[in-house]
Amino acid sequence: MTSLPALLRAASRARAKAYAPYSGFQVGAAVLAGGRVFAAGNVENSAYPLSVCAERNAVAMAVAAGHRRIDAVAVVAGEDQPAAPCGGCRQVLAEFCAPRTPVIYAASGGRSVTTDVGALLPDAFGPDALRRAASAGPRTTADGHRGAARVRLTARGRRSP
Ligand SMILES: [Zn+2]
Repeated sequence: MTSLPALLRAASRARAKAYAPYSGFQVGAAVLAGGRVFAAGNVENSAYPLSVCAERNAVAMAVAAGHRRIDAVAVVAGEDQPAAPCGGCRQVLAEFCAPRTPVIYAASGGRSVTTDVGALLPDAFGPDALRRAASAGPRTTADGHRGAARVRLTARGRRSP
């Protein structure tokens, strides 16, 4: 079992290869999946919104290698203050991690925070929500019309009490 400090070292090495010429904010992430470590840095783009976080790049590497479950996550960013994963990455981690999956994020100066995926994204939307919706059965067109009519009535009701 790879330790969290070992995972942090992998994240730190990946951070050195991050491509962050626009923000200058290099991030490295490493995930443990199937007993292997997958590490990546953030990759920015001159079309800014196309930039991808280190965490998501590391998750994509693990998934591309055939893994669907991540057992631990480490992130290295910032000089003094550790930078936590962004909201988008928390959602992506929740897709492949159990709520109790450990996450450690650290500044290059050594300070770190150890938490878990459930604490970073409580009550996460996930695959179970879609499965529950699917098992409720398909909606018919008539259901959709009735639902839309209810919404219109409610809206009208609020406008003229
Ligand atoms: Zn992110």
